Amino acid sequence: MRIIIVGGVAGGMSAATRLRRLMEDAEILVLERSGYVSFANCGLPYYVGGVIEKRASLLLQTPESLHARFRLDVRVRHEVTAIDTAAKTVTVRDLEAGTQSCESYDHLILSMGASPVIPPIPGIERALTLRDVGDVDRMAAATDQALAAGKSAVVIGGGFIGVEVAENLAERGLQVTLVELADQVLPPLDPELASFVADELLKNGVSLRLATQVSQIGQTSVTLSSQESIPADIVVASIGVRPETRLAEQAGITIGSRGGVVVDDSLRTSAPEVYAVGDMVEKLDPLSGAATLVPLANIANRQGRRVADVIAGREPAPGTAQAYGTAVVKVFGLTAASTGANAKRLRAQDRRFVAIHTHPVDHAGYYPGASQMHLTLLFDPDSGEILGAQGVGPAGVERRIDVIATAMAGKLGAADLIDLELAYAPPYGSAKDPINQLGYLAENVLTGEQVIQWDELGAREPAETNLLIDVRSPQEFAAGSIPGARNIPVDELRDRIDEIPPGPHTVFCQVGQRGHVATRLLGQLNRQVTNLTGGYLTWKAGQRARELSHCGQA
Ligand code: FAD
Repeated sequence: MRIIIVGGVAGGMSAATRLRRLMEDAEILVLERSGYVSFANCGLPYYVGGVIEKRASLLLQTPESLHARFRLDVRVRHEVTAIDTAAKTVTVRDLEAGTQSCESYDHLILSMGASPVIPPIPGIERALTLRDVGDVDRMAAATDQALAAGKSAVVIGGGFIGVEVAENLAERGLQVTLVELADQVLPPLDPELASFVADELLKNGVSLRLATQVSQIGQTSVTLSSQESIPADIVVASIGVRPETRLAEQAGITIGSRGGVVVDDSLRTSAPEVYAVGDMVEKLDPLSGAATLVPLANIANRQGRRVADVIAGREPAPGTAQAYGTAVVKVFGLTAASTGANAKRLRAQDRRFVAIHTHPVDHAGYYPGASQMHLTLLFDPDSGEILGAQGVGPAGVERRIDVIATAMAGKLGAADLIDLELAYAPPYGSAKDPINQLGYLAENVLTGEQVIQWDELGAREPAETNLLIDVRSPQEFAAGSIPGARNIPVDELRDRIDEIPPGPHTVFCQVGQRGHVATRLLGQLNRQVTNLTGGYLTWKAGQRARELSHCGQA
């Protein structure tokens, strides 16, 4: 059996090595356009930043090492230029020799990835993108040049890769400006959490221009939609990626509504014996059932393994084409992570949900070094189905988001998080882990507690019959509160109940916990009360997000 794999990095090489482990006799040919296979594309920004010091560390395998261990025929600098699905052949150009050949297959696996979107901006030729080893060499050289010149850099796009590149250029000593079309950085986060990331970027010297576009790129500067001109010795475009589907499309393989190759749970395309994996394929959003694009390494690797299983005759694993989109990024001293849908997406889908916000410490507060994180859990208020989660903080965030991603995959409900038995000792967590706490809050909501979101609060004008009650201490109240709030500390509620008519009222505290106690108490004293989820801290983060949404605009 002859199997050809186009693309020799995440999905392609996972497929190739798994195939060999399952099929010793198969002939496996890997064709890779660039000069390298199995390189660490996720590590590229950290090589630019000098965190990964040796270029060789990015190169995980070579054609020789792959042949030695797996007897793979790996040909770099070989580009597939056409696929004939009827004749079961691919046309291959040897980019070194300049020759062309035709290779036949029994099974063809496409893992051609996604290419950076190049925005149609005058002067865009000067902008660098980051996808492969050639790109990182160019970016490292341009960074050195910029350091020797005016030391300025502009990164276009505030998604995960844009933020990573901005951080790494700043770590090298450049004055970085990050320009983002949306009114926040990191679109998978809702704005109140993204505000912590934006502040971390600002704190570390990265300037932000949000809700702003680059309208022109000059030789040493860029001009923004606000007419502002910013020095730019180096410009990096990082506004997203597009599935690399041109060849598949030309071969008549079905492309879906989101622009990726359509595959089933066996990763089969519409053409016989042609499979596709990774960034170039559309995934199924398990929450909405809609097609989606999720260009992440975990999924490409998983699908690479699964496609090998299918070709070797194993049963396809259910859910292979699904993706929740679980992602994490380091932003200087913070970690930001998310899984599933955020509130923006659920609203756009007209899906009913409740978001709860918490601000726990990553490990027991009495053990040195505890730091506060910010978590959001989104779930269906009727069924309790978990719809998504996000977190930002200096420590412990990725672990919590991974647990929720696992819970989602295992179809646990939001209140089931209460009963998860998670590893605990004071240096690592709390006896009531932040995950368990999210479960408590979700159960409270699912059993009738009313919560209100920070961005719904503005719609209510606090009045004598509709109080906004700050149940924190007078000292906390004096240090800053929500406009219109009246301070009745939680411990005084019973004694001052006459000041509180039947309702409806909203209560809040610092993070939501005393607000919950107040809600329970007042409810039992026949007052109608809603608790502000996440408390003053979430409200403040929301206000900060609104301030930041105009960041840097003229
Ligand atoms: P790729 O790994 O991109 O491989 C596709 C290969 O196909 C390419 O090498 C290309 O040269 C080759 N190819 C394309 N067309 C042809 C052709 N016609 N002939 C021959 N070869 C061809 N994901 C995460 O989950 N976490 C991260 O932290 C993260 N960081 C990233 C940082 C950067 C800078 C980049 C670029 C990506 C990052 N990703 C990250 C995304 C992750 O790298 C991709 O999701 C993953 O590599 C996709 O695997 P793939 O096999 O689909 O495509």
